[in-house]
Amino acid sequence: FRKIQPSSKELVEGILAGNITALSRAITLVESINSAHLTKANEVINACLPHANKSVRIGITGVPGVGKSTFIEAFGKQLTSLGKKVAVLAVDPSSTISHGSILGDKTRMEELVKDENAFIRPSASGETLGGVARKTRETITLCEAYGFDTIIIETVGVGQSETAVHSMVDFFLLLKISGAGDELQGIKRGIMEMADAIVINKADGDNIKKANLAKVEFNSVLHLFTAKKSGWVPKTSTCSAITHQGISAVWKTITQFLELTKGNNYFFEKRKEQNQYWMLETINEQLKLNFYNHTVIQQLLDSTKKAVQNDEISPFAAAQLLLETYFKK
Ligand code: GDP
Repeated sequence: FRKIQPSSKELVEGILAGNITALSRAITLVESINSAHLTKANEVINACLPHANKSVRIGITGVPGVGKSTFIEAFGKQLTSLGKKVAVLAVDPSSTISHGSILGDKTRMEELVKDENAFIRPSASGETLGGVARKTRETITLCEAYGFDTIIIETVGVGQSETAVHSMVDFFLLLKISGAGDELQGIKRGIMEMADAIVINKADGDNIKKANLAKVEFNSVLHLFTAKKSGWVPKTSTCSAITHQGISAVWKTITQFLELTKGNNYFFEKRKEQNQYWMLETINEQLKLNFYNHTVIQQLLDSTKKAVQNDEISPFAAAQLLLETYFKK
């Protein structure tokens, strides 16, 4: 016995009425790899769009073990205690293999899961980062239409996913921990440059002193970077996701950021740019998928690869040939 699928109109009505099951189902639709679902998903998203956008979107990254889940639990509870409605999403391309290593295991945010003003959704799975990220971007729209006013997007600080998350949030937070004097090692400069705040977690017990030192070091590094277009000067602070020291200060920082960037219009301009970015990203992604899934291309690809390996045809001429074949189809 299969339940009848709700129509796109029913889903939209449900979302706008604050029906969490409708929201979950719509997200599942957006995440579906069945191409027949694509049109319906787009209908739902378009209908939600006029009701979206009224939120703050916060990206949180950091290497595994830094305390992202613990931090989001504490931070999320802090926000709901202020009367906010919080949705926690994730971009984790590795979840295809690990079945959602982040947020998949909901016991990691025990308190927040039980909070009726919070919604936690594990990462979509997919073969490409672009695909996974696009689905999360669309899920933001659905969550905002439902009425979530604070969207947190978690990603693991390994690889390219930070850039994707940075492209869908207003505020980007890098979570760190102090190490044994090697605070500045192994930090990708690009990620530090994206950060609007660096928060050093686990500043508790014997760690407080080290965390304060790390804060000073990060602060001096941040000052080496060129000024941000937003006019915002990135902040460094310490916190403990366990004792909750420094957690409310993070929200205060974000509030100051919003005040500044809404005042100088950067906030709105950036969202416009991000919308354009996601349109182009989606075109790129879709073209690539369609190209490689096309039967004729699949038939030709192996032999053409061999021909290129053996110098029978140049890589450029071969690419041209395949592209022309595809677009003539
Ligand atoms: P994630 O992999 O970044 O999501 O990290 P988790 O939130 O799973 O935390 C990794 C480990 O660090 C867990 O054992 C947490 O209990 C611990 N942890 C997280 N935040 C803190 C903190 O503020 N202080 C201390 N002492 N431990 C923490």
